[in-house]
Amino acid sequence: MATCANHPIRMATARCKCCNKPLCNECRHVTDAGIFCSPECESRTRQFTERASGGTVTYRKRFFTKRTVRGLLILLIVLIGAAAFLHFTLGVSSWSDLKAVFAQWWEARYLLLP
Ligand SMILES: [Zn+2]
Ligand SMILES: [Zn+2]
Repeated sequence: MATCANHPIRMATARCKCCNKPLCNECRHVTDAGIFCSPECESRTRQFTERASGGTVTYRKRFFTKRTVRGLLILLIVLIGAAAFLHFTLGVSSWSDLKAVFAQWWEARYLLLP
């Protein structure tokens, strides 16, 4: 076992559950949530465990929203990319230009038929 993080001459008897710091008998804070080096570490671990045990549904919801937002962002980038492609390769700059291009394709389809 390592020596105490605060007292290099004392042997550590426990480790902080939050930051894993080695602690001696004097430095450790024993609580019902575990052994910690400071009240800050205790509250941090309590918040974490409360979120992990009680907030499973909200976590999933948040995760889903994150994924949805990412999906929408990718869709937006693809749409902007498609618009940029049409603009720079076919000279389409407005909706009517786009319709004209599609009309041309439509006519070309008939011309290609035997
Ligand atoms: Zn700690
Ligand atoms: Zn100590």
